[in-house]
Parts: sequence; C-alpha cells; structure tokens
Amino acid sequence: MLENMDDFRCPKCNKLLFKYRLKGSLAVEVKCTRCSVIATLIIKKEG
Ligand SMILES: [Zn+2]
Repeated sequence: MLENMDDFRCPKCNKLLFKYRLKGSLAVEVKCTRCSVIATLIIKKEG
C-alpha cells in the first residue's frame, strides 16, 4: 500500500522525517525532532 514512497531525511543527521508520494508540487518545512534543523523540501511540478 505504501510502496514507491520517497524518503525525506534530515540533511544534517539523516533522520527519516517522513515519506511521501505525490503528483504535483510540494513545499514544506519540517523541524527535525533529533537535531532541530529546519529541513525544507520543495518539489516543483514539471511539465
Ligand atoms: Zn536532524
């Protein structure tokens, strides 16, 4: 059911923050619960 998910990991400590699967655009900021870095994920829909 949750196959083909992409991982979004903290760029500093590599903690798995969430998994996602989408068509389209996404912009989100997540604060890492381990090291408190604000991780930003921006995906722009192409085409
Ligand atoms: Zn982290």
